[in-house]
Amino acid sequence: MTLRTSLAAETATLLADLGAAPPTDGALEVRSPIDGRPIGWVAEDDPAGAAAKIAAAQAAFPAWRDTPAPIRGQLVRLFGEELRSHKAALGRLVTIECGKILSEGLGEVQEMIDICDFAVGLSRQLHGLTIASERPDHRMMESWHPLGPVGIISAFNFPVAVWAWNAALALVCGDPVIWKPSEKTPLTALACQALFQRAAARFGHAPENLSSVLIGGGEIGAALVDHPGVPLVSATGSTRMGRAVAPRLAARFARAILELGGNNGAIVCPSADVDLTVRAVAFAAMGTAGQRCTTLRRLFVHDAAYDVLLPRLKAAYASVAVGSPLDERTLVGPLIDAAAFEAMQAALREAEALGGAVTGGPREESESPDAFYVRPALVELPEQAGPVLQETFAPILYVMRFSELGEAIRLHNAVGQGLSSSIFTSDLREAELFLSARGSDCGIANVNIGPSGAEIGGAFGGEKETGGGRESGSDAWKAYMRRATNTINFGRALPLAQGVRFDL
Ligand code: NAD
Repeated sequence: MTLRTSLAAETATLLADLGAAPPTDGALEVRSPIDGRPIGWVAEDDPAGAAAKIAAAQAAFPAWRDTPAPIRGQLVRLFGEELRSHKAALGRLVTIECGKILSEGLGEVQEMIDICDFAVGLSRQLHGLTIASERPDHRMMESWHPLGPVGIISAFNFPVAVWAWNAALALVCGDPVIWKPSEKTPLTALACQALFQRAAARFGHAPENLSSVLIGGGEIGAALVDHPGVPLVSATGSTRMGRAVAPRLAARFARAILELGGNNGAIVCPSADVDLTVRAVAFAAMGTAGQRCTTLRRLFVHDAAYDVLLPRLKAAYASVAVGSPLDERTLVGPLIDAAAFEAMQAALREAEALGGAVTGGPREESESPDAFYVRPALVELPEQAGPVLQETFAPILYVMRFSELGEAIRLHNAVGQGLSSSIFTSDLREAELFLSARGSDCGIANVNIGPSGAEIGGAFGGEKETGGGRESGSDAWKAYMRRATNTINFGRALPLAQGVRFDL
């Protein structure tokens, strides 16, 4: 049996295990980056079909809004149970469809389970404040109400977890969800939808069409963006996509959660623990073949640490196991497609032209001409310029020297994106400076761990061209609800605020 038939056949088996329809019917061809060959065909939605699904989600809203939040939480609990039972199959399908290594495919499903657990607890904690009123016999408070259907647009590189971050919160907040996954990874989306339907059937009284999936590219995503019946769109993807989506949402005064590109940096200080730093940088820069929004792309190394750290890092780059993500020994799987490979090579050529010394980067051998495996690249550069200022979605780490921490922080912040960041140091003052208002300008700032691999408990997202949205833990749920401020007069007089008189 060839690799092609085995992957396509395994995909069909996994989808059947997960309760999804066979992927044999439709115009959208899905390829596995493992060998670059087709693993399925699915039907695309057209604009009329998308409008019908959005209308169906609107119809589901009143009944779901009126279901008490802790009862809504029970549906999310059941969905989490389905994910627990099917973690192995869904995790493997993630690996086959987007190419991340198996432990990361499974980790993505674990992240879905974790956010479901979080959301179940949250369903009993959608708290508002009580507020002191300046008027006698008055009370003020905040109420949080469901918002309406939430559109979720997701990227290929986290094909299931990003949806779950949004969907688990939106569902306990009382909102139906409509998901437009990446056109590169529709099969995992259809599998998640099938698991959700199982949970809904066990729950027994969820309204029809509480969750739906729109299959297609940017045009179908635009149907969600432009529809007046979708009060919130959470869009994850490139800054280019965000630039297209944000003004259209603003034009109709819809809410946006934008989770866009990153160009994440780390600073290595003289007191850094070298062993720990090498491991953290290796995972953050090479893991997921450089295809995480939080991938480490820029490393600023103090002169005093440079000559110790760089040989260790280069050795890791030379020896890291690149290959099929289904092989347990592999740490770096394939790039998603040929375009990603070409973008990587173009960035490396540009860096060389700027005086960069490149280690790694070439294509690695594989059985298939349509698969793109690369040796991760480390580029030593004299200054931060050219391709360093952009996100190239591939495993390239640009390394630059510094001699003074203030200057390193300035350079760290001198890019358009503001997602995630790290400092490696044993010096309390350096760590606290990096975390302070004068330090990293990112939505995520870490000490002695890399910028990638967030837990669900914190709010996730970034500043500047990363879009400013927050998802997942902490109080990110507030974006999925509308806040009403209530003032209640339990007296017989009608005092006006600010001492205003209006005596009739
Ligand atoms: P992409 O921008 O090509 O596509 C992302 C999604 O947006 C897809 O579903 C796509 O169909 C849709 N889309 C594209 N144009 C659209 C439009 N005009 N209107 C509506 N929808 C549109 O991104 P990708 O290549 O799939 O993913 C990689 C990018 O995503 C990287 O830039 C990465 O940093 C970013 N990303 C960000 C986060 C985050 O949380 N900040 C997480 C994952 C990925």
